[in-house]
Amino acid sequence: MPTILRSPSGPAGGTLPGFASVDGGLVVDLSVMRSVRVDVDEQTAWVQGGANGADLHAETLTYGLAGIAGWTNAVGLGGFLLHGGYGCLSAKLGLGVDTILELEVVSANGEVLRVTPSENPDLFWAARGAGSNFGVVTWMKVQLVPVPEQVLAGVLVYDAVEATELLEHLNELNGRVPDDMMFIAHMAVLPDDPAYPGELHGKLVVDVMIVHVGSLAQAGADVRGLREEFAPLIDTVAPRSLRDFMTELSAGYPGIRQRMDDDQVVELSDEVIDVVVSAARTMADRGLQPMSYLIMYPYRGAASRTPEHASACPVGRGHWSITGAAFWEDPADDARHIGWCDDVSAALHDGGVATGAVYANCQPEVNLERQRRSFGEERWNRLASIKAKYDPENVFHHNHNIPPAS
Ligand SMILES: Cc1cc2nc3c(=O)[nH]c(=O)nc-3n(C[C@H](O)[C@H](O)[C@H](O)COP(=O)(O)OP(=O)(O)OC[C@H]3O[C@@H](n4cnc5c(N)ncnc54)[C@H](O)[C@@H]3O)c2cc1C
Repeated sequence: MPTILRSPSGPAGGTLPGFASVDGGLVVDLSVMRSVRVDVDEQTAWVQGGANGADLHAETLTYGLAGIAGWTNAVGLGGFLLHGGYGCLSAKLGLGVDTILELEVVSANGEVLRVTPSENPDLFWAARGAGSNFGVVTWMKVQLVPVPEQVLAGVLVYDAVEATELLEHLNELNGRVPDDMMFIAHMAVLPDDPAYPGELHGKLVVDVMIVHVGSLAQAGADVRGLREEFAPLIDTVAPRSLRDFMTELSAGYPGIRQRMDDDQVVELSDEVIDVVVSAARTMADRGLQPMSYLIMYPYRGAASRTPEHASACPVGRGHWSITGAAFWEDPADDARHIGWCDDVSAALHDGGVATGAVYANCQPEVNLERQRRSFGEERWNRLASIKAKYDPENVFHHNHNIPPAS
């Protein structure tokens, strides 16, 4: 059988290189395996391999608990959690891989494996970072955390003329605010959408999306600098339920042609900020709006403290991710949008600020060498040995592949 892959959930989910479909292979469709079972006392949930963020939130938030899911609900938890998993609670709980407590995996030879830190521990390490390589993950047990009924959440939108000072401020804020606060920044051109005041249509902006799960008083204090030292054009940051906020965010994702390319940097240094601001202006100058944008976020708080080798996931703990994200409709525009994403990545590398690590979930295409560099030789060799043990024929190869050690 040439290829096997799993295609879990909603329309906005799915890997960017198109691992969710294949010609001439077998597709294992997990989209009906979406159960989520919450253990309220333990603050954990068993999640089936085809569930997405909406499935998780629908169950856990009923009990005032939340786990790691994508910033948009439609992202499938299978690929997301097994290869990283960066969400609005990642400062509080860690990356998705950090929250996996146990797995049930159907291996290449059809065995059902219980995978925990003490049972099949080699696979427990490897599946948390390169999980698509070792079998079909049918169940994942994940850690949850209590969230208050009302969290402070929303978006602050600023004129891009303030971008440099604002990004410097975010870099400093990252070192100062508690784990309760998560933020992610974008640079984008505001569309001609009645949701925005007419005078802002077509304007290049920086937006800072915030979710703060601490007390509202603490949250207000932590956000004050962003509101008072800079003058937001739009401020939607307000107390609301996490469920409402996640639902609102999920409405905006178009299910169309897309490209994301992640690179990582140690911090938002002056050099990085120069690259980012110039890439955003290029995006605007090349007319790539209104759906494309640049994304910047730190692997902060709990996500920064997990020891580097606790899992196979190679992202730079404590570092920042810079991602060019392009969305468009007409195939004739492919080259322009892909070219811009490539240019952002090249500028970070040419400027000597990219660390070489890459977030597999936002790696746009199969690139074995880039993947290997990102994992580093020690991780890569360990993964290859574990692959040889659990999938020696490389049945699961339609992914960011780890070829089995010979
Ligand atoms: C609109 C959009 C928003 C996004 N937002 C975020 C975000 O907020 N945070 C973030 O970290 N990432 C985000 N991503 C990236 C996202 O994490 C990846 O696209 C991820 O691969 C999605 O996983 P999936 O299971 O939906 O995709 P799929 O393409 O179905 O799967 C991805 C890979 O994982 C494998 N896989 C899936 N399920 C299983 C399973 N049960 N067992 C074994 N292997 C499995 C597949 O074979 C494939 O190789 C976003 C992507 C998009 C398109």
